[in-house]
Amino acid sequence: PVAVEVTGLCVDLSGNRIVDRVDLTVHTGEWVTVIGPNGAGKSTLLRAVGGLLPATGGIALFGTPATALRRRDRARIVATVVQMPAVPPGMTVLDYTLLGRTPYIPPLGRESAVDLAAVRDVLGQLDLGRFADRQLATLSGGERQRVFLARALAQGATLLLLDEPTSALDIGHQQEVLELVDQLRRDHGLTVLATMHDLSLAGEYADRMVLLADGRVVAAGPPQDVLTEDLLATHYRARVRVIPG
Ligand code: ADP
Ligand code: MG
Ligand code: MG
Repeated sequence: PVAVEVTGLCVDLSGNRIVDRVDLTVHTGEWVTVIGPNGAGKSTLLRAVGGLLPATGGIALFGTPATALRRRDRARIVATVVQMPAVPPGMTVLDYTLLGRTPYIPPLGRESAVDLAAVRDVLGQLDLGRFADRQLATLSGGERQRVFLARALAQGATLLLLDEPTSALDIGHQQEVLELVDQLRRDHGLTVLATMHDLSLAGEYADRMVLLADGRVVAAGPPQDVLTEDLLATHYRARVRVIPG
């Protein structure tokens, strides 16, 4: 089964073609990571797949053309986690995770016992139970990323779109968050489409990688086929060397 089937996808922003005829397949349960230099169009591609930007070409999610999905169904099966999501001030971890269930709460603001139980269960699974009543803003970056993943799970998402989810974290927390994503993939059968900045970490976690440059796919395949010296030298700007003194 194919989780994401993108064909000939184009995104134009302010008259510029940012994503240019991209084809991309992600199988159910697979982890695919898009890499590429700054400005390649990685975030734009992810936003288009998530339905957050208008695009032309084909996007099918779990076998259904995105155009045939009801907006709220699409919003439920896809969860997008970015580097530093904006968080309404004063929200507790429990409040925030409950947002994943909001569409099911009638009337708004009165969470059902079922929703509360589901959210507490998810928080427990992600080892966040003790943070339930803490304000989200007081958590460390790594803990916060765990809460964002908890919300995705509470929502019942089957496709995780992760846009540089660990770029704001130190290396230890980066690995912790990526391990958690991998665990969710195994335990819940989630499919992961990510963009990542750190190439060595990206290679460690992806089943397949896609190298994007100027909005186009220039290489795709298993990490060792994409993370080649030649490809990276061609498509990444020369590394700036800082000479001390
Ligand atoms: P990446 O995530 O690979 O760094 P982005 O998808 O963020 O790249 O951006 C790709 C290109 O699209 C960049 O040149 C950026 O300036 C441009 N871009 C992004 N958003 C907009 C917008 N709203 N209007 C015009 N250009 C945009
Ligand atoms: Mg960028
Ligand atoms: Mg980006």
